[in-house]
Amino acid sequence: MPFEPPKKLTPMMLQYLEIKQKHQDCILFYRLGDFYEMFFEDAVTASSILKITLTSRSRKDEEKIPMCGIPFHSADRYIEKLLEAGKKIAICEQVSDPNLSKGIVERKVVQIITPALTLHSTKQEEQNYLASIFVEKKEKQDSFVLSYLDLATGQLRSTHLSSEENLRDELSRISAKELLWPKRFQENPTLRVIQKLYPNLLINFLPETAYRPQGIFSDHLVQKIKPELWPAVHALFYYLKTAHFENVLHFQNVEVYETKNCMHLDATTLRNLEILKTNYDGKFEGSLLWLLDQTKTSMGHRKLRQWVLYPLIQVQDILDRQNVIESLTQSPTLLEDIRKALSEVSDLERILSRLTLASANARDLLALGASLKKVPELNVFFEKLTGHYFKTRFFPFHDLTGLLDRAIQENPPLALKEGALIQKGYDAQLDELIHLCENGKSALLNLEAQERQKTGISSLKVRYNQVFGYYIEVTNVHLKSVPSHYIRKQTLVNAERFITEELKEFETRILSATEKRKKLEYEIFENIRSQILEKLAPLLSLASKLSELDAFCALSKVALAYRYTKPDVSYRYYFDLQEARHPVIERTLKERFIPNDIHLDENHFLMVITGPNMAGKSTVMRELALISLLAQIGSFVPASKAELGIVDRIFTRVGAHDNLSQGESTFMVEMKETAHILKHATSQSLIILDEIGRGTSTFDGVSIAWAVANYIQSQIKAKTLFATHYHELTFLEKELKGVTNFHIAVQEVGQEIVFLRKLLPGTIQRSYGVEVARLAGLPQSVITSAKTMLKNLEHKSLKHMHPGQKGVRPPSTYEEKALHNQNLLFEFKGV
Ligand code: ATP
Repeated sequence: MPFEPPKKLTPMMLQYLEIKQKHQDCILFYRLGDFYEMFFEDAVTASSILKITLTSRSRKDEEKIPMCGIPFHSADRYIEKLLEAGKKIAICEQVSDPNLSKGIVERKVVQIITPALTLHSTKQEEQNYLASIFVEKKEKQDSFVLSYLDLATGQLRSTHLSSEENLRDELSRISAKELLWPKRFQENPTLRVIQKLYPNLLINFLPETAYRPQGIFSDHLVQKIKPELWPAVHALFYYLKTAHFENVLHFQNVEVYETKNCMHLDATTLRNLEILKTNYDGKFEGSLLWLLDQTKTSMGHRKLRQWVLYPLIQVQDILDRQNVIESLTQSPTLLEDIRKALSEVSDLERILSRLTLASANARDLLALGASLKKVPELNVFFEKLTGHYFKTRFFPFHDLTGLLDRAIQENPPLALKEGALIQKGYDAQLDELIHLCENGKSALLNLEAQERQKTGISSLKVRYNQVFGYYIEVTNVHLKSVPSHYIRKQTLVNAERFITEELKEFETRILSATEKRKKLEYEIFENIRSQILEKLAPLLSLASKLSELDAFCALSKVALAYRYTKPDVSYRYYFDLQEARHPVIERTLKERFIPNDIHLDENHFLMVITGPNMAGKSTVMRELALISLLAQIGSFVPASKAELGIVDRIFTRVGAHDNLSQGESTFMVEMKETAHILKHATSQSLIILDEIGRGTSTFDGVSIAWAVANYIQSQIKAKTLFATHYHELTFLEKELKGVTNFHIAVQEVGQEIVFLRKLLPGTIQRSYGVEVARLAGLPQSVITSAKTMLKNLEHKSLKHMHPGQKGVRPPSTYEEKALHNQNLLFEFKGV
């Protein structure tokens, strides 16, 4: 329940309320000395998220107000927690000097931090996207423009999406942290869909003005793109501006892309193929990206992630990437040299973003310098490599390396205004100040010696006290030798104290030297910062090239380490894999992974795969999908030989995972996913169907599976792998052209079964479910009664199929077989 502000309020609380009024959607961090204080509802919300004590401000002249506070110097970790909880934070600072202010200190919101607009994220290797959607109303179906940026790395991308479905899939690929949506389209049904799909996504509704030009912020960028993309980009910069991100020149480019130019991967496929995380526990370890991630830099990791999420579909583009990997794998020593050099390269994209946003420190500059130093080394390695890619050299930025080498101290502090940033010898004025600070005492002794010499008074002393500062003390006996320019300040019993112009100057110099030094060092830092920023565009381009090189090296390393081969990719409708392996399972399995051959072409494009439980059906199917994806990102693949046709999209319908929280049963989800595949797949797609129809009764299940296979064979003609325990489906081979039966072989050894893991032509008649159940540890009594039941069923089945029996012949068509099975069950149950 919102708090009613008390009637009696101090001027400070009135100021607070006035500021809070303008930032209703944020938790207001109100700076009070060394603390950020939160009041009213903000205090209640924040104290519960941050697990800090909720107190109350109670003063004589004011009613009680709930409050909580955090020390400003440790604000970062609290901010991160609030962001994780999906909150926005407005940082309100004191902008006038508290010592000079009459009345209350002036305060202003200087920054708004939101889940997407933060530099606090500790997950360096992930992108933190702010997405903006603009709706284009169309008669038939709306289309959308999606633009998104990552504040911390300067990435900005934009694309046009022709349907809600495409928008949904694209959103799942980028997993944005925050979304901007036009207020005027608040009633649009797509918004409901997004809110349902991403309940934790923070959505901000922006006014019309947000979608118009935002001055220098976006003008230089939008000129480079089609006008239809403008509004969504404008909105991003509008939002940055409202959050007080004033200088965002690190956004130098808008990367415009079309989803139809890359392989389409929807959320289901990303999940089922465990591309970014595992299904079992949602961890990165065990995913495809984890396997490939031999990158040495965070920016390389981000690039590789993008490659994996956007596989290519143009053969030439794929060949270009393959060529680079081939050159690198042919020179393993050079590959390691390059990777070693890259391991000393920092996350330049983030450093350059921090420099632009004025949040970089001297350690960032050191890291930049050290990274730039690696560039000439990389150029030398490039000379020894063949191929077009290695012909272009990196620009070496010698001047910047020299500058940073000369300027920045070896171990600078994080703070920028406390000095100790700049090396001696870089700036004469600073050297003098450093000298003064470090040698104040000896300078004083020098001055004393000089005065003694000039005046001939050997007992003359230069001293300091709080009242007069520095002074010269002369005992009474020597007063007659005191020069006329000495100014008398104080008379003691047996001595007089003087000052001189020179001494005053010395005093100001020495006392303010420390302060001046800190200030000057900061100025020099700022100056170096702007010298670097003058080269922002070429530096960003260097960062992008280095990240690409890192991604190439990672794929090459994987190819070498795990013995991958270069696939032959083409536009042919053809798949031929020899000794193919599942890239992740072969690495995580304790036993030897058994490779398999897989062949698909116009005459054999729908494989019906039978085999016992646990035989390896899912593995072999996912293996093919992953190899196809790997090939299209330009990578080598785990097989001894691979010929692969380009795939426009991979569809997967595997396993059972329900969506009960959204009111859908397991079977409903299964059918929806199947419907989606049948609607969108083309002859260029690859479809993986793992046991369609198992979520319902056997006969419904068989019927649906049969009809789905039939539809794909006749209407879509997509390359399809269809694993099933319904042996009825193996009849399709005889009836439909292009359908071929395969099975995964097992061997019966006495009571046991041995998994051979070999994919072979033909069918297998038994499922060995009871044997697998035994392996899984079902109680012996259950296994025994299951076996009895199975024997009875098989016995009855044989009786029915016995050809010698009058009037009975084995069922041959699908319908006959289904009916036969049904009778069998009814009979068994005594119906
Ligand atoms: P179900 O019908 O019960 O879903 P399945 O036939 O789909 O089973 P998979 O899940 O593919 O079986 O495989 C089961 C396990 O067998 C895998 O987790 C893996 O450990 C092992 N396995 C599968 N294929 C191979 C292989 N080619 N070489 C070695 N081990 C394998």
